[in-house]
Amino acid sequence: MDSEEFRRRGREMIDYVASYMENVRTYQPYPDVQPGYLRHMIPDCAPESPDSWDDLFKDIERVIMPGITHWQNPHFHAYYTTASSFPATLADILSNGIGCLGFTWGAASEATLIALLSARTKFLHKMKKDTTEMEDGVIMSKFVAYTSDQGHSSVERAGLIAAVKMRQLETDDKCALRGRTLQRAIDSDKAKGLVPIYVSEKEEIWLHIDAAYAGSAFICPEFRPILNGVEYATSFSFNPHKWMHVNFDCSTMWVKDSTLISDAFTVDPLYLKHEKQGQVMPDYRHWTIPFGRRFRSLKLWFVLRLFGQKWLQECIKKDVRLAHEFKNLVLSDERFELFCEVTLGLVCFRLKKSDEVNERLLKAINEDRRIHIVPSRTKDKYFLRFAICSSQTTSEDIQFAWKVISEMADFVLKDELVY
Ligand SMILES: *Cc1c(COP(=O)(O)O)cnc(C)c1O
Repeated sequence: MDSEEFRRRGREMIDYVASYMENVRTYQPYPDVQPGYLRHMIPDCAPESPDSWDDLFKDIERVIMPGITHWQNPHFHAYYTTASSFPATLADILSNGIGCLGFTWGAASEATLIALLSARTKFLHKMKKDTTEMEDGVIMSKFVAYTSDQGHSSVERAGLIAAVKMRQLETDDKCALRGRTLQRAIDSDKAKGLVPIYVSEKEEIWLHIDAAYAGSAFICPEFRPILNGVEYATSFSFNPHKWMHVNFDCSTMWVKDSTLISDAFTVDPLYLKHEKQGQVMPDYRHWTIPFGRRFRSLKLWFVLRLFGQKWLQECIKKDVRLAHEFKNLVLSDERFELFCEVTLGLVCFRLKKSDEVNERLLKAINEDRRIHIVPSRTKDKYFLRFAICSSQTTSEDIQFAWKVISEMADFVLKDELVY
């Protein structure tokens, strides 16, 4: 492909993406294909001589699209928001065109891990000052970290990767971890000779806030009370790729004292030394696990400049309003109950029936295919999650989703009578 053809094909691809976004609501949100469906549709080896662009382009519709889960479809309500936007898509083209390796941040899961590894190093240095005769491995085996039973799976995983005991502490009926519970866990671990390293400020322990989803909401002043106490945090991360119209992937991380991270990870081979060393702050290559990174900040910059604060705030407010609209539909139907309070764009709810009946309801909804949602389980209770994901979701889509859920509930509960 020469630059002339790149120009022509680029226009075709932009047209394709623009039409896709215009029509995204006409696709079925979740695909019907089975794992391995691709195997029969493509040759089992690469072509000897090049295929034509036109043949490849046709295969996007034939081969790729049938397997796609349409996260931007307004009837996709699973997981969390993954907003994309035209400015961010254009920035990704520029980033790919420039093709450099930027040394910026990875993802929210990595931020949690980096913070945990840094905390581990900080406490290792501190303890080695006091007890020089102990081996590093022996000291580290005493470290313990805390999260709540509502923490994302990546937090548990960070503990596994960093080989630090991660305690999942029980939350109250509002799904919040209380200070008392934490204090009791810390006291009990200390009594066993363990060393708490990760969560609370009072004990000079590292407090990391994983606001991967919620973080974007804090661009709206009215949601900032949720952040009360943030001044105690050692590190904070959030994903603009979730709720701020930046295409996947783009995660940000803030640390109170960046030397805590650079001290933990600095390795400085000769071929990476440069004249401005020490003047460039921060030197991100010391901060992450992979060395090279894509130029992700570019799309965040495009989005901030081309949308502006006000519009981004309006989008968040709209999604929270829609979540409350859905919540009110749940509350208006006696068969259902909320699983926990609605704070932002996620509604957790269930039928006032056994877990099995709720599992059947979820299955019916997702097999129906008009909308897509996912379940979760916490405190030994199964529930359904309804998230406002697409930036195109409207009030009609909420009413539509409720109509589907309500029909499926009729169906499942009618079945229930027979049992
Ligand atoms: C989405 C999410 C993550 C995972 O984020 P990645 O960027 O995909 O690693 C972690 N924590 C929370 C609370 C999340 O919502």
